This record gives sequence, C-alpha cells and structure tokens, in this order.
Amino acid sequence: MLRLHDTASGHSEQLETRQPGRAGIYICGSTVYGPPHIGHGRFSLVYDVLRRFLEYSGTVVDHVSNVTDIDDKIINRANEEQRSSQEVAAEYEEQWWQAMAKLGCLLPTEIPHATAFIDQMVELVSELVALGSAYETSDGVYFSVSAVADYGLLAHQSLESMRSGARVEVNEEKRSPLDFALWKKAKPAEPFWPSPFGPGRPGWHTECVVMSLALLGEGFDLHGGGQDLIFPHHENERAQAVALGKRFSRHWMHNGMVEARGGQKMSKSLGNVLLLSDLFEQTDPRAYRLLVLQSHYRAPIEVTPTTLSDAASALSRLDALSTRLFEVDTLESGLTDPQVREAFVERMEDDLDTPRATAALFDAIRRANMAFDAREASRGAELTRAVLECFAAVGLEAKGQAHIPQSVLELGRRRDEARAGRDFAAADDLRAQIVGLGYVVEDTPGGTRIRR
Ligand SMILES: [Zn+2]
Repeated sequence: MLRLHDTASGHSEQLETRQPGRAGIYICGSTVYGPPHIGHGRFSLVYDVLRRFLEYSGTVVDHVSNVTDIDDKIINRANEEQRSSQEVAAEYEEQWWQAMAKLGCLLPTEIPHATAFIDQMVELVSELVALGSAYETSDGVYFSVSAVADYGLLAHQSLESMRSGARVEVNEEKRSPLDFALWKKAKPAEPFWPSPFGPGRPGWHTECVVMSLALLGEGFDLHGGGQDLIFPHHENERAQAVALGKRFSRHWMHNGMVEARGGQKMSKSLGNVLLLSDLFEQTDPRAYRLLVLQSHYRAPIEVTPTTLSDAASALSRLDALSTRLFEVDTLESGLTDPQVREAFVERMEDDLDTPRATAALFDAIRRANMAFDAREASRGAELTRAVLECFAAVGLEAKGQAHIPQSVLELGRRRDEARAGRDFAAADDLRAQIVGLGYVVEDTPGGTRIRR
C-alpha cells in the first residue's frame, strides 16, 4: 500500500482511503492570468504521477483540479489590456490545457471553475458570519483565525508565534493581521457578483474549500499542491472547514519548487522564469517528465540546460531499448520480468520514491541491453517489457521502433529480402526510399533497423 509523507503530521503514513479502492484527490490548479511556466509543469507532473500510480495499483481516482478564473491578477491584466477578465481567463486556460497535453498529463476527472460556484461560496461565507467565525468590514468579509483552535497545523506554528511574526497590518478593521478575506467588495471597474455583504467576489481560499467539498465530499482523501501553498492558502482552506465543523482532507501532500540555474528561486522579478512553451522548443516534453521523476517530489529541482540535456539523453536510452524489443518481440512469448516490476512498485510505495524507482529501471535497461548483446533475446525482452510497463505506469511512454509506421517497416522487410537474394540494386533503392521518408537505416546482424 502507498505510504506518503503527510504535511499535517510531518510523517509518512499509509494512504488509507475513505472508500477502499477509490481515492478522491483535490489539487489546487491554475490561476489563469498568464502563460504556464515550468513550476506549473512540475506540480502537474507530480500529481499526474501520483494519479497514474494509484490507477496502476488498481485504485479508481477522482481527480479534481480547479481553475481560478477570477482573481486580482486576472482583473489587473484585463484592465491593462482593456478587455474583460473572462477573455483573459479563457485565453490562458486554453494555453494551460495545451501545455498539459504536451506534458502528457491526464485531464482531471473534474475541472471546476471558481465562477461557477459563487452561490455556494456566498452561502459558506454567510454561514461563517452566522457562526461568529467571520466578520464584515468596509471592504469585505474576513475570517477570524482565532475561531480555529489548531490554526497553524499545516504551517507547524502556533497561532501565537504566527501572530507575533505577522507583518504590521494596514487594514485597521481587521481584528488580527492573520485574518483573511472571504469576500472582497467590488471596487470600481471590477467584476462582481451579488451577495448579502454587497457586490463583490470571493477570496481565493474560499474557492478551493467550497469546490473540494462540493465535488469530493467531507473527509476526502488527499489535498495537494506546491509547498508555496501550505501557508496561507491550505491553512486557510482548512480553517474554514474546521470552523464549519466539516471534516476536510485526510491527507496533505506538497511538492517542492523549481529552481533555476545555481539554486536560484525562479521568479518573475529575477527574470529567470522558463515558460513551458520555451521548454517545448528546447527539449522533448518527456525529458521534463523524466527530470521530474529523477527528483523526489518533495525536494527542489534544478532546471538548467545541463539537467534537461542529461534527462534527454537518458530518455534516448529508453527509446533505443524499446526499438531493440520491437526487433525481437514478434518471436517471443510476451513474458515480463516480475522482479523489475516488484522493485519499482516497492520504491514507488515508499513516499513515491521516483528517483530510486527510475534508477532501478535504468539498471534494468543496462541488463536488458547486455542480454540482447549476448543474444539472449527472450531474457532481454522480458526485462524490456517490464521497464516499458513501469515507465508507462508513471506516464513515460517509450518511442521506439514500434512507433514507425507499418508501411515504412514493410520497406525495411523488403530490403532484407532483396539483400538475402543479393539484389543489391533493389536494396539500395529501398534504403533510399526509407531515408527519403525521414528515417535512419542501420544494418545489424538481425537485418535492417530503422530509427527516426
Ligand atoms: Zn486551492
């Protein structure tokens, strides 16, 4: 069974789901105000790997990930560009899903949009006000963090120490500097929805608590996001649920950040933000998935030209092995090496230890190549099938010869026949045809090998 580090307890714990065989997970998604960058790519890949591994292990996954389509940043951009916030949100949401498709991330099973849940958000804010856990000011409605005894659970800090560390507040109507906005009253030129507190829009922390509980129900299994969301976003989501007396997420999972060259934090102000669209121009998107897999999800990863090209060359070893399998596979039994799979699963179940799991698979790649070199085709094929299955389980599909169209492979087969019949003119002609279609032709002891 999968064990995962839980941010709330600080320990690795078994992911015991509410309903056996089914996991309800909520991942904080995108605020669609700009093009997605590699940090967005990393968290999407981390949770895609989690979901795929759960599914590979036989668990049905309800994967909910939201789109925040109303937010200060969207409004600012819309005002700067003199268009509506819906237009801005629609444009960047489209870019988001295009990038996720290129990364090979599965679409969430549900994608709630914040603006479709405003009524429920207003209802939740009203309930919190009625309970005395929230209060109205001239610019909005605020949650009173003192309403929750264990506020600071995720941040691993007491309310007292957080309060003393909080920066001096400019808003004098707030009772504590840690209190946060549940509802923001509309200023001129801002989009708004009606509410008992006047026209306005929900706060971000309210969006996620409403959508996760609405779609997954109380006590859903896992809530995830980047480590930058632990505080205040997730702390504040949880606080609202606790104040309402509702069981919130049973498990909290957070992934590490992406660092640019030299361990620098990636940030707009430092000018080192790498957009996913730029990454796709530089490398195969699968290389980024492999780089993410080769790092532990809780550790930071460094994305530089060197780490990306190392991942790309490791990927080419996987693709080359897949080609070797294709050359022998039609003759073989289809057996898969069980030990490779067991070692992979064991490492994945230990807090998704993808670095050790992938290292074991690359060791199996080395052993498979040795077996093929020694003409132990069936041993090589068993190892290779296990490697391909395990990589596919975490969303990394090898692109070997199997992806070369049948018509091209047929030309290779005819070339082998021509050579066997010593018709070298015909063989040369067929080689030229294959090369003309954009492939590389290699002569091997087993006959023609075609590569992209
Ligand atoms: Zn969220």
